[in-house]
Amino acid sequence: MPRVFNFSAGPATLPLEVLMQAQQELVEYPGAGLSILEASHRGKVYDAIHSETIASLREILRLNEDYAVLLLQGGASGQFAMVPLNLLPPGQIADYIHTGAWADKAVKEAQIVGRVNVAADTSHDVPSRIPSASELTLTPGAAYVHLTSNETISGIQWKTFPQTEAPLVADMSSDILSRPLDVKAFGLIYAGAQKNLGPAGVTLVVIRKDLADRAPTTVPAIFRYRTHMAENSLYHTPPCFATYLMMLVLRWVKRVGLETLYRRNREKAAKLYAALDGSSGFYRGTASPDCRSDMNVTFRLPTETLEQKFLTEAEKAGFTGLKGHRSVGGVRASIYNAFPEEGIDALVSFMRDFMRRWG
Ligand code: PMP
Repeated sequence: MPRVFNFSAGPATLPLEVLMQAQQELVEYPGAGLSILEASHRGKVYDAIHSETIASLREILRLNEDYAVLLLQGGASGQFAMVPLNLLPPGQIADYIHTGAWADKAVKEAQIVGRVNVAADTSHDVPSRIPSASELTLTPGAAYVHLTSNETISGIQWKTFPQTEAPLVADMSSDILSRPLDVKAFGLIYAGAQKNLGPAGVTLVVIRKDLADRAPTTVPAIFRYRTHMAENSLYHTPPCFATYLMMLVLRWVKRVGLETLYRRNREKAAKLYAALDGSSGFYRGTASPDCRSDMNVTFRLPTETLEQKFLTEAEKAGFTGLKGHRSVGGVRASIYNAFPEEGIDALVSFMRDFMRRWG
């Protein structure tokens, strides 16, 4: 079976050259006489992979010495808990900007740990949207302000970030490295790897080092950023193979360049949004046009029956992963960095053909 166009929201399409290199090196890593899957995380072979991965992230994100890169486990969901455990001490309040399903999970987890102010809530707005800076009711002296840079399910994305007095904390799981970023505007950024960075299993945290000192001593060592910073993310056995794949993906990102990826991402998304906008309402985008995501393009058809037919025919035509998240239905095309432009063109012509037959 040929490779399909995979529109899955994550784990998602990886660069083909990365998969091929991993396949070639799987049994015997060059010069090692063994597989990465078998190599000690304290040995020379993995050490080089670990160091290169962190160095590449520092280079691509243009980090200065104020920031540490951590490679952790537990996914972005783990960070929903770790962020407040470390940064929200008793007596303080954290501001959360509630934009949808993923922000909701972050809010709920933080509420278990401490006091939360929901600084804006657009999670039930139709079309889905990001609040403007003037809508935010921020708490003076807040411990931090949390936002979700791209809501993977509803397909909305912050285009510019609010300037806040308190450190800005961002869940960038579904758009990290999709565009240039000024990290200095953030106190902490986190992302599960399984969209733009590699396979599932490793979680990226970029933290301004001084923030790591805030964790109360009651937080278990494994959940303290300080621990992982002190041990260079080798406090316990890391997800070696996932990190190795991330290293290969980052080499690819450096070869292509972040600016080029950003341009391609905008072009790819624009083609799909143009197909929605040019369909006389047959395909209806669910996100407000000014905050449409370049990563997850969400839309509906006139009826659920047609949506089902669309998804079934699309699957047969070699497009997989287009079903909207189970909580909202509809169609979602996730088109991260590695998703090829040919797949976009093919989907657009499939959509035209489908509309001609059923519109
Ligand atoms: N935040 C966002 C924006 C996501 O898209 C996801 C996963 N789809 C998560 C958090 C949860 O990530 P994980 O499964 O790695 O915990």
